[in-house]
Amino acid sequence: MREPVAASDRPIRERHRPRAPATPAHRLTEAADQRHFRAALLRWYRRHARPLPWRPSPGLYATWISEVMLQQTQVATVIPYYRRFLAQFPDVQSLASAQEADVLRCWEGLGYYRRARQLHAAARRIVRDYEGLLPTRFDQWCALPGIGRYTAGAILSIALDQRHPILEANTQRLLSRLLALAGDPTSAAHRRLLWSWAALLLPRRACGDFNQALMELGSTVCTPRAPQCARCPVARHCAALAQGRQAELPGPQTPVAYVERQEVAVVVRRADGRVLVRQCGEGERWAGLWDFLRLRLDHDTLTARALCAGVHALSGVRVGPPRELAVLRHGVTRHRITLRCYAADCRRAGRRRAGVQWVTPAELGRLPVSVTTRQISRLIEP
Ligand code: SF4
Repeated sequence: MREPVAASDRPIRERHRPRAPATPAHRLTEAADQRHFRAALLRWYRRHARPLPWRPSPGLYATWISEVMLQQTQVATVIPYYRRFLAQFPDVQSLASAQEADVLRCWEGLGYYRRARQLHAAARRIVRDYEGLLPTRFDQWCALPGIGRYTAGAILSIALDQRHPILEANTQRLLSRLLALAGDPTSAAHRRLLWSWAALLLPRRACGDFNQALMELGSTVCTPRAPQCARCPVARHCAALAQGRQAELPGPQTPVAYVERQEVAVVVRRADGRVLVRQCGEGERWAGLWDFLRLRLDHDTLTARALCAGVHALSGVRVGPPRELAVLRHGVTRHRITLRCYAADCRRAGRRRAGVQWVTPAELGRLPVSVTTRQISRLIEP
């Protein structure tokens, strides 16, 4: 079994120091250069890869879990979630037979909850369609909820050493620099070209290690800012370095258009200490999770009357005058949300709307909720 070691900060040896080629073109078109590139990258990976719980590959199921968790999430954040998730759902059968709420509760705080719901739906489909045996074909994986070209390729190459290329944020940046590709790296044309290079450079064997090596180099050496070219094992192939453009490539991405939003959360309490929560429906931001009553109201024109009317419309419950608890600011995808939190006492329970429920503080602790909802629940702890 391979024993990965921590990344070294030793400078590369003199003979690996890059020399500027006579032309600014990259040096990866020749078969001999591609062979050298693969060998140098794999050698580096086997010496310098970070030891992570999913290395070497722990098999199809655990590789699948790690790949889904790592989407848009830092390695350090994922590690405790990965361990907890596998302890609670050690195989596809246990995941498929779990309640969705338990899967979401285990995922709570990791964000992008759609991933957890799709993981759960995919596990159920695997049990239904494949008798609980994880598929081993690319097309079978791509047909599962939440699995795209990158994830299917990563799972099968890492767990089974199948020959599939991958492209994600780290490899996108790394390849863009190696090839000195200017322009928006997230554009369709740029990505098409990078996918074809990711396939071209793939070795015949050790594809899983090769793909992981590309990602590892992108995340630890060819970093977004200040790439450490002096430590780079493939520096001699890098056109960006040869042209002195490693800091400016890849080109700027299309900036995210952030949207400011104002929202209001109301904690409705009964005399017995129970609070009112609502399960977010399909198509809502936190589908499947529970939340206090959340209203989209303009803070500048907000009145107690409008707030009470909003609570009644959403829940069927009449409340007394609201008291402000706190103002929280948080971001969800491209939304920048300012959330005013209020508490209000129940005056008349009335006819409750579907999806709304009274829970004790202990029951609330077991429900899957968003990070901000958990924050609010701490504000009302006795
Ligand atoms: S030489 Fe520098 S810019 Fe080029 S791939 Fe290596 S770290 Fe990235």
